[in-house]
Amino acid sequence: MTFVYPKWVPGEHTPTGPLMQMAGLHVRAGGAEIPWSRDRVDMFAFHVDVPAGAQSIDVDFDYLSPSSTFGAGYGESANATQNLLLILFNHIVIYPAGVPSDELTLRASVRLPAGWKFDTALPVSARNADRIDFAPVSLTTLIDSPIVAGAYMRTIPITDTTHITVTADSNSALAMSDARIAQIRNLVAETDALFGARHYRTYRWLVTLSDLIEVQGLEHHQSTDIRQAENGLTDPDQTARTITILSHEFVHSWNGKYRRPAGLATADYQQPMIGELLFVYEGMTRYFGDFVLSARSGMRTAEEDREYAAWVAANQDHNRPGRHWRPLADTAVNVPTISVAPGEEVPYRRGLDYYDESLLVWLDADTTIRAKSGGSKSLDDFAKMFFGPPPSAPMLKPYTLDDVVNALNRVVPNDWRAFLDSRVYRVAPHPPLRALEAGGWGLVYNDTPNWYQSLRERFTKTTDESFTVGIWVKQDGTISDVVYGGPAYAAGLMPGMKITAINGRKYSAGVLREEIRAKKPLDVHVEQGTFAGAFRIDDRGGERFPHLERIAGAADVLSEIMRPRARGSQHAAGD
Ligand SMILES: [Zn+2]
Repeated sequence: MTFVYPKWVPGEHTPTGPLMQMAGLHVRAGGAEIPWSRDRVDMFAFHVDVPAGAQSIDVDFDYLSPSSTFGAGYGESANATQNLLLILFNHIVIYPAGVPSDELTLRASVRLPAGWKFDTALPVSARNADRIDFAPVSLTTLIDSPIVAGAYMRTIPITDTTHITVTADSNSALAMSDARIAQIRNLVAETDALFGARHYRTYRWLVTLSDLIEVQGLEHHQSTDIRQAENGLTDPDQTARTITILSHEFVHSWNGKYRRPAGLATADYQQPMIGELLFVYEGMTRYFGDFVLSARSGMRTAEEDREYAAWVAANQDHNRPGRHWRPLADTAVNVPTISVAPGEEVPYRRGLDYYDESLLVWLDADTTIRAKSGGSKSLDDFAKMFFGPPPSAPMLKPYTLDDVVNALNRVVPNDWRAFLDSRVYRVAPHPPLRALEAGGWGLVYNDTPNWYQSLRERFTKTTDESFTVGIWVKQDGTISDVVYGGPAYAAGLMPGMKITAINGRKYSAGVLREEIRAKKPLDVHVEQGTFAGAFRIDDRGGERFPHLERIAGAADVLSEIMRPRARGSQHAAGD
């Protein structure tokens, strides 16, 4: 027989199963060791000759929990600290090759350190001291249901069917504020109003806070695995960053888990996944989760949301010369290589832009529907039709591009195929900035810092002068990236060079900003290995940060989109 280790991981859309962390593999039949051999082409497959008469075989192996980060998968970073543990079942299962994951039933059990608490969407069948036995579930459900456990854990009820479980490396990190908790309560009400039906029985946000675990968020149908810094819910900047991940992942319960592109709805974890429609799966989740619902629930003020949209629009427009060769859809098709690419040359290569740019594509669709229907229809109607009633237990309804186009046409007739073709599938010199204008707002640049860009600078510890000289610089002066074709690039500066001085002044983020603000050419001294040299950036444009500005006389459609819909949402619009 042949058994396999999961290769393509749902939600990662890449062949990132951490096979290199499998060790100590032994196969036995009736207690006697039998040899295994790895497939010579497919490294994730193992062949064994089952002895005649054997009714079963036992496969035993260990998973090496990494203490460093490598590769691109969520398993390829630490999953445990001295105080907490994340169990992702795709790391620790093998299954018979060729059997659909829905058709395999598994019984899992775990033993936890004494005194630790745990939470998971998996149903528990028995608990004896430190051992927990879970009820039999399909392999699909098992892999969709991570377990978090730890010494410091706080469960926060949200509604009768939803809660947040925060697990952290310290007790003080569990102090999520009542104001943020109230926003999550609003979020549940707003998703009910938006989609009109739930496809979860219960839902839990499993939030893990540790400085030793990589920052991540991975969606599941009835839970989500969110990993943030230890101060992710206590530091105001970190919270501003973390909180919208909760709305993003929650939207995936509808868009991503209940409805999923057919190319990502594979029968098992060895079949390659096709990422093409991630501009719907992730892109519409960015629109609803990170933009529309973040405002409707009060997670962000309308002004913060506009600053976010302005940064997204400016970054996709100004900092993406790669858009002249790579269409947006190709960033989705090519997730497996883009997600393992080096951190530099993102502007020319493009990144996983189907997230951010699709915010504008779906805002464009939303404002188009509103304009064509005289304000009586919106993308909310698409959301109800596509992701909504009838309510159900967790199930999967795959879709194709035709299904998306047809549903849009049922909301409002339009040439939606051509609409998506020009914005997603063809090279487009600019992102659809007209979506903002149709919302009553224009993208402008001035010398006032952008709220979201400043927030990003603080949590990435990087100075962002991408919109001026075309450069991002780390605290120690190392250039993390350069805008291909921009002023710094034209001067000869490259990622990896370390800036030591600017205009005769020792490098600091403040000096860089001051000299740009003074509209002086920049004489930049750099070091890289044994090289030292100087470059001149001749750009006198001064500071530039993106913002949205009201277009006089135009209807404020953007504010109408952000208006809370749920009765009893505890915040006022327009703040
Ligand atoms: Zn997502």
